[in-house]
Amino acid sequence: MTIYLHAGTLLATPGREPLTRHTIAIDGGRVSGVTAGFTAPQSDDLVIDLSDCFVLPGLIDCHVHLTGEFGPKYKLDLVEESPAAVALHAARHARVTLEAGFTTVRDLGEIGAPGDAIFALRNAVAKGFVPGPRIFAAGSIISPTGGHGVTCGYRDDINFLLDANGRGDGADGCRVAVRRQVSRGADFIKFVATGGVLTDTATGTGQQFFDDEYAAIVGTARMLGRKTTAHAHGADGMKAALHAGVDSIEHGTFMDEEIIDIMRRRGTFYVPTTLAGVTVAEYATTQDFMPPAIREKALAVGPQIVETLRRGHDAGLKIAFGTDTAVSPHGENAREFALMVQAGMTSMEAIVAATVTAAEHIGQGAHIGTIEPGRAADIIATAASPLDDVTELQKVQFVMRDGKVFKNARAKSV
Ligand SMILES: [Zn+2]
Repeated sequence: MTIYLHAGTLLATPGREPLTRHTIAIDGGRVSGVTAGFTAPQSDDLVIDLSDCFVLPGLIDCHVHLTGEFGPKYKLDLVEESPAAVALHAARHARVTLEAGFTTVRDLGEIGAPGDAIFALRNAVAKGFVPGPRIFAAGSIISPTGGHGVTCGYRDDINFLLDANGRGDGADGCRVAVRRQVSRGADFIKFVATGGVLTDTATGTGQQFFDDEYAAIVGTARMLGRKTTAHAHGADGMKAALHAGVDSIEHGTFMDEEIIDIMRRRGTFYVPTTLAGVTVAEYATTQDFMPPAIREKALAVGPQIVETLRRGHDAGLKIAFGTDTAVSPHGENAREFALMVQAGMTSMEAIVAATVTAAEHIGQGAHIGTIEPGRAADIIATAASPLDDVTELQKVQFVMRDGKVFKNARAKSV
């Protein structure tokens, strides 16, 4: 059976002009043709009528954490929730992310019980057992003792239990930590180049590993065929990670001109996550659940992050869409688009970042990111053009992943 999807407006390749009145043919989960006009079906074909919609490729978020969500109870959740509960919550987060129009995500670090929920979820989605976006997962974040991502502000023995998986101290320890993630099934390696906002220690947002440790992480990952990405706010740690050869920078809050220059020359991807910065700054002023150490960092990082994106975009850096969702609630990923536009990107540039560039960034440029023959049928639709108003992407009407419909708010003819 062939599915014929009638698209009123079709942005088949973000970055190029949209087409009007086109038909997308889908066979076996893949796009088999894109033709002008509305093709009439044969007897057992299925037609999906999106003739009054704006149709575009499924969105890609290069930075999420499906296994947790920040909020008043986040700290207790880390010790109260069983690995099984974490997995079930993650399945819910995956479903709402997909329904929001994100057909692929890269998960950059487990939060919560050190189980294997993210890998189990990735595999279950791939088998069609649970609804969710296609997942690429990093497993545990590689971090030094006392560093970001592993220190939750508990007494020492509890911290030790929670962070054991991604902890790396000294070059040898870092090699072991990377190898361990790969053996668990990691698609990428994520490490902390600097301190982070949501670590309950007054350790700032500067460099956290020594140069030989960065080199050990990047070198080991490369040897095992995995790309690396660095969580980075401060310029010192960002520079050290770039010197070690990291493939991309997450957040990049305090990047200076030298860093921008290195990234531009090398074509290093930048994943801005402005939504996370704006969310923590907002929580710091409107909520009372943040411990003082976190509140202080949130107020420093938050206001800076949109400005950093403006500078990075002006300088021509390769920008891949990423939100750090889990900091903000799951399913609200598309709020990032308006922040990208606020930072000076056009709506089209923001959509390119979440499709073509994001696909290239995660090594999937040949499979996803555009709607053309041979690609996975990852297709979404909005009621009005997101090129005119990018917040239309916060109200996605239709979601298909791998040729399967997961949401259709205009189900006239399905
Ligand atoms: Zn993150």
